[in-house]
Amino acid sequence: MDAAIETYSLTKVYRSLWRRREIRAVDDVSLRVERGTTFGLLGPNGAGKTTFVKMLLSSVRPTAGSASIFGQDCRRAEARRPIGYLPENHRFPAYMTGSGMLDFYAALSGMDAGSRRRRIGELLALVGLEKWAGLRLGKYSKGMLQRLGLAQALMHSPALLVLDEPSDGVDPVGRRQIREMLHGLEERGVTIFINSHLLAEVELFCREVAILHRGKVALVGKVKELTAGNGYSLSAASVPERLEEELRARASAAASRDGLLELQFASRQQVNEAVDLLRAAGCEIESLLPTASTLEEVFMRTVNA
Ligand code: ATP
Repeated sequence: MDAAIETYSLTKVYRSLWRRREIRAVDDVSLRVERGTTFGLLGPNGAGKTTFVKMLLSSVRPTAGSASIFGQDCRRAEARRPIGYLPENHRFPAYMTGSGMLDFYAALSGMDAGSRRRRIGELLALVGLEKWAGLRLGKYSKGMLQRLGLAQALMHSPALLVLDEPSDGVDPVGRRQIREMLHGLEERGVTIFINSHLLAEVELFCREVAILHRGKVALVGKVKELTAGNGYSLSAASVPERLEEELRARASAAASRDGLLELQFASRQQVNEAVDLLRAAGCEIESLLPTASTLEEVFMRTVNA
């Protein structure tokens, strides 16, 4: 089956004004985003994320390579029909009301008046803005504007939602609301592609990520696999001296802190043997945790490599 998004050696080279310098904003990127997945495109400022999205949406012409949306060449107008898009730093006119703005965009997408009225009601309920539908946008908070922006992107029930920094500038409560909304859409089979530098948000939400660095894909994979642990961390209290010596010899790392012995083990078998020895000696286990990396750690390792 065709992927939701597939790019083949997609490349964009900008030339400086005097054509002396080339900027390879996106450099030979081949990515596949499966249908129904939530995919995060990460990267430091200037990595090429926005240029990549603009090429998918055909607002920037690739220098080389190609991209398809649900199997259709992204340069064809029909390929853009199934896409709902929330740009970064959108600017909706402050004098419009929430429902007026949605009506304007729905009319632009060609919906008739009856369908617009019904859909706007549904979307305002979905994003929790029914009570503020008649309020002018100048009075909306950043979080409310982002939720309204999402409603705009969802107007024609898109199969692919492309969101550029959807949680940027939104407080933790608003972020949670956005996350819950997106989870609801994911359950309904919508493919969600997010451009973001908010790594903790992406980790909470996306199943797969790609890290762009200087225009190239530096890392791609499932979030669970990229952050998977490579060992266990065990801490125990009141460990007799002789047992401590033995455990230190077995562990890959060890430290004593606040009356606790903290040990790192590379395998499940090793940590289980250590637990058996500790419990047989009457010691109390304080904690036992798999040592996973955060997405931020994976990201830092990748971009600093
Ligand atoms: P950010 O996170 O800051 O939004 P980004 O990852 O989205 O960054 P892009 O905006 O795609 O990165 O920019 C990638 C590179 O291309 C940067 O070096 C940028 O300066 C350059 N660039 C982007 N648009 C143009 C343009 N229209 N003309 C020339 N250079 C450009």
